[in-house]
Amino acid sequence: MGVVRETHDCVVVGASFAGLGSAYALARSGLGVTVLEDKADCGERPHTTGILVKDVIDQVALLDRMPAELVRRIDGVRLYAPDLHYVDLAAPGYYFLATDTPGVLRWLAEQAENGGARLRLGARFRGAERTRSGFRLEEAGLTRYLIGADGPRSRVAESLGLGHNSDYLFGVEYEYADVSIPEPDKLHCFIDRRIAPGYIGWIVSGVGLVQAGLARRLRGERVSARAAMTTFLEKIAPMVDLRGRRPCFIRAGLIPCGGVVRPAAGPRVLLVGDAAGMVSPVTAGGIHAALKHGLAAGHAVADFLHGRAEDPSDWFVRTYPRYRAKRSLRFLFDHFQSDMAFNRLLATRPMRMAAGSIYFHHKGVFVPSPTARSDHGGGAGPRRIPGASCPGTTDIEGASE
Ligand SMILES: Cc1cc2nc3c(=O)[nH]c(=O)nc-3n(C[C@H](O)[C@H](O)[C@H](O)COP(=O)(O)OP(=O)(O)OC[C@H]3O[C@@H](n4cnc5c(N)ncnc54)[C@H](O)[C@@H]3O)c2cc1C
Repeated sequence: MGVVRETHDCVVVGASFAGLGSAYALARSGLGVTVLEDKADCGERPHTTGILVKDVIDQVALLDRMPAELVRRIDGVRLYAPDLHYVDLAAPGYYFLATDTPGVLRWLAEQAENGGARLRLGARFRGAERTRSGFRLEEAGLTRYLIGADGPRSRVAESLGLGHNSDYLFGVEYEYADVSIPEPDKLHCFIDRRIAPGYIGWIVSGVGLVQAGLARRLRGERVSARAAMTTFLEKIAPMVDLRGRRPCFIRAGLIPCGGVVRPAAGPRVLLVGDAAGMVSPVTAGGIHAALKHGLAAGHAVADFLHGRAEDPSDWFVRTYPRYRAKRSLRFLFDHFQSDMAFNRLLATRPMRMAAGSIYFHHKGVFVPSPTARSDHGGGAGPRRIPGASCPGTTDIEGASE
């Protein structure tokens, strides 16, 4: 292959939430930006459930124009203990959006292209060589700046000696068409150390699909994702029986959970999104940070290239989230997760408050479901999926607050 002689103001590697956000901001400032994306289509094989938290809707103005048919509102969370007792969590005014994730990514790509960014699909970044005023890339020519938005195992980080993620969860999700679930306006989350050590399982009624998945610690024992999913589907069968059904899509991938990498930048190069480890170590949500900091990185690089600011590698990375408290919570969850404790404590007020503040990001006043009622006809307190039996677990029906 001949040497590519193009020159760019900025090359962004990765056309997902972080990279498309950066490209959009750079292009709108009038700079020449090219996005290199390995996949042939930005919406192909997304490795995410794609749930957007309300904060990203509030903070990223670009999303105001997102077509309504790409999202479905989810108003609260039903959190299940390992023995399948559950509590409903909600916060006034707070919601999540389930998404048609391939559609959202294609729409974001369209926004970046309409803004003037050039997308090169099917173009894998392999490495970069430093020059006096930027980098030379075999596949794209010369660039004055480089943004690595290429996900958890960043090739940009590796090739330029930047920090890299080393602590991961592994997530896998099956998608089903023509299935409905009870309480479709809730995100159903399942705590179970056997199935999802270090995280949770979930089921959500998305846009035209039901998505059922789990994420687990990628450390120590290796249980195959398929085996873990089989056990999970077995467990939730009393609620929705997906056993034996063929998923129409499977999404899977690594989720960095060790916090922001160091260094996340060098002269004329920045990492952003998962490449920078920008994922909440507790919720494992990274779309909000990827989009928000992706856009901000684009603005910061644009200011530098227009001569209005210093190289953002010096100052911009200080605005990255540190996740101090969340990393401590992750440590606790990793080392002391106990199914028995969740069975006993899930319904208690402190536990519901803690869960509420994790899910609703301290927004508004957390209000436990006021009409809590038992499926067994009892009063306020935890409820259980009808028909679910979990031998060997503690029945906490009626546990006090
Ligand atoms: C199963 C699962 C479920 C999840 N669910 C949620 C959720 O519901 N909500 C949430 O907020 N977060 C969720 N996350 C996390 C979230 O998906 C990520 O934090 C988010 O996608 C990060 O976006 P990003 O743009 O930084 O990177 P990515 O989405 O990883 O995108 C990186 C892009 O770079 C491209 N690329 C990689 N290497 C190269 C290369 N060498 N050359 C060119 N291109 C390259 C990839 O093809 C990809 O398009 C989930 C993760 C997993 C694994």
